[in-house]
Amino acid sequence: MNAKMLWQYARLVVEVGINVQKGQPVMINCPVDCAPFARMLTTAAYDAGASDVHINWRDDYCARQHWLKADDSVFDSVYPWEVLKRTELAKKGVGSISIAASDPENLKGVDPDRLRRANTASGRDLKEFSRMLMSNAIPWCVVSVPIVSWAKKVFPEVEDDEAAVEMLWDEIFKAVRITEDGDAVAEWRAHCERIEGYARRMTEYDFAELHYRNSIGTDLTVKMPENHMWLAGGDYCNGIKFVANMPTEEVFSAPLKNGVDGTLVAAKPLVLNGNVVEGIRFTFREGRIVDIHADTNEETLRTQVGLDEGSHYLGEIALVPYDSPISNSGILFFNTLFDENAACHFAFGEAYPACIKGGDDLSLEELKAAGINAESNTHVDFMVGTADLEITGTTRDGRTVKVFENGNFAI
Ligand code: ZN
Ligand code: ZN
Repeated sequence: MNAKMLWQYARLVVEVGINVQKGQPVMINCPVDCAPFARMLTTAAYDAGASDVHINWRDDYCARQHWLKADDSVFDSVYPWEVLKRTELAKKGVGSISIAASDPENLKGVDPDRLRRANTASGRDLKEFSRMLMSNAIPWCVVSVPIVSWAKKVFPEVEDDEAAVEMLWDEIFKAVRITEDGDAVAEWRAHCERIEGYARRMTEYDFAELHYRNSIGTDLTVKMPENHMWLAGGDYCNGIKFVANMPTEEVFSAPLKNGVDGTLVAAKPLVLNGNVVEGIRFTFREGRIVDIHADTNEETLRTQVGLDEGSHYLGEIALVPYDSPISNSGILFFNTLFDENAACHFAFGEAYPACIKGGDDLSLEELKAAGINAESNTHVDFMVGTADLEITGTTRDGRTVKVFENGNFAI
């Protein structure tokens, strides 16, 4: 892979992604297979003034062995030093970088109850850290780097491991707007401004309700809370802008927790807890998921939706034009970071507080009172956008507005 482009990518993640400041610590969550890129990130972070860089390594192979063979007693809690490491760094204002790269089917065959118990435990034990992350008390950024198992799932027809990895690199660079002689930082500024414009327009409409319809069976009404905001591009931590996902194409908000009714059909498979869930269909009544169907791995999906009370409700509503760069690639990435930025999507589980005006400074009780799904130990995006998706909005003063037509923004 082209070293010049890799360095551009590392600097982009550090300088635009977490936007590291002088004297700020950095934490990198990274698979061992992506170590060369973690080294570049480390260099870029120190060069930009980071006080220290901490790496949390993980490995698909060892993780699978753990899930299959570890003693049954280890799945109900997180080791205290793991909790301490993250929360202490977060209190020091750490910039957190996560590299999302995994074999999409790494946990095939693992006991779903082990996954459920471990998810419950990490949700509970790492609550303080995840609250800081969700409410932008620290800057964070999720990016991806190819690994062989993932690249071969995306390009099954390519036999050579290295060729598949190269092809996935090409697609990732396109998605994050890096070209050999381009200026990725300037490209990102322009891109964020464009999608932030859509977010401002959506917020100005102050929709009371959005109605989704398409030919694969989605027919859903989503009420929006008062004082909701649509967000896109950059988030703010103490007034400093960072970009939480690279790529990002979405314009998102949080629905009224009890205001979702109808049928929602997924348009793409979802990689969930190391399993591929296909053919998802949810039925909602007064916000709650009352019926779940999936063609494959339905149990994995049921387990995650059943995690806690808040996981039965939507926490995110996100708009992505069908005619957008990742979607136009026609590639199914089996990685939510990319697939969610190729299609309109929702997430079940906890909402981002910033989707309510001033929400990052509100207490849990105030967020609940504002009407969003403020409390869950999970947040799972799933893709619903199609080429024929129509979204019609009704404003609080009773006007009807076409928001999406033929899968694209109509506003
Ligand atoms: Zn999203
Ligand atoms: Zn999300």
